[in-house]
Order: sequence, then structure tokens, then C-alpha cells
Amino acid sequence: MQTLAKRPRPVGTAAGANARPNHATHDPLTEVASRLKGVIKRHNGGLLAFCPSHDDRKGRSLAVSLGREGQVLMHCFAGCSIHEITAAIDLNPSDLFIRPNSKYEPQTRTYFNDWQIINALRHDALIVLIAARTMLTGKTLAESDVSALSSAVIRIHEAANFSRGASHE
Ligand SMILES: [Zn+2]
Repeated sequence: MQTLAKRPRPVGTAAGANARPNHATHDPLTEVASRLKGVIKRHNGGLLAFCPSHDDRKGRSLAVSLGREGQVLMHCFAGCSIHEITAAIDLNPSDLFIRPNSKYEPQTRTYFNDWQIINALRHDALIVLIAARTMLTGKTLAESDVSALSSAVIRIHEAANFSRGASHE
């Protein structure tokens, strides 16, 4: 079995913003981070950055994290779609996934039954509820909570992709 050298996970150094796209790169997170501005690393391993798709000078609205298959997940709190975000950094949504010819084989994709998916989403739903309650009391969410919330929202959005009943696209 061929093993790919494990590179340390890239941490967004905004200084590298001029890095050229390299077709040999199989790490979507490196690729995405190199194209974003104002990247900072969260303690949970995710990233925050200025959303490239809208005027985001007020704050970093874009949460970036890794999915369970190594794909890059992005969520803009201002509501930009994944298509808008990727287009703004000159990528396609498919570029967010690890390429099949590296180490991920589509045939090995795992699907889950509905019970498993709903069970996994219970935790995410709880995070959303806690965040909503916190905001209702007038408190500001801690950065770590915002990060957890964005991850939960992203997972909920992605859940259908793991269903056996999902269409092929
Ligand atoms: Zn945006």
C-alpha cells in the first residue's frame, strides 16, 4: 500500500496569499487557505477568514473546517452559498474534495442509514438550540461557540450526502 507522507496540517499564514495554485497539491485545505485572506486558526482546528464573496471587512464571517472525508467545509455567516464562495476564490465546489487519484476511493464511501444520521444530528441540533438560547438571553456567543455552531450547521447541511437514499449528484 502506498503511503502518502503525512504533512503537517497547513495553518493559514496569510503571508502565503500569493502562492500559485499547484496542481500537484492534493490537500484541499491548503489550497483553500492559500486563497483566503485574514486566515486565523481556531483552537478546534478549524479556520476563520474573511469571506471572499461579500464585503467582509467588519469581521471574519467565513468558517472553514474539515469534513470526515477530508473535504473542506465552508460556511459564511452572512449567507453566501458555497458556489459563490468557491467562485470568488476561483475554485469549483469539487475542488473542496480530496481527489480520487490520491488516497480516497469513491467505492469505499460509507453510507449510513437514516437512524445513524439522525442520531448523529441530534448532537448538532442541540448545539444550535444552545446557541439560540444563549443569544436569546442577550449574551454574545464565545468564539468557540460560534465555531461549534458553524460546524453543526455545516454537518446538518451535509447530512443528506451520507444517506443511502441520496441521489448520485
Ligand atoms: Zn459571505
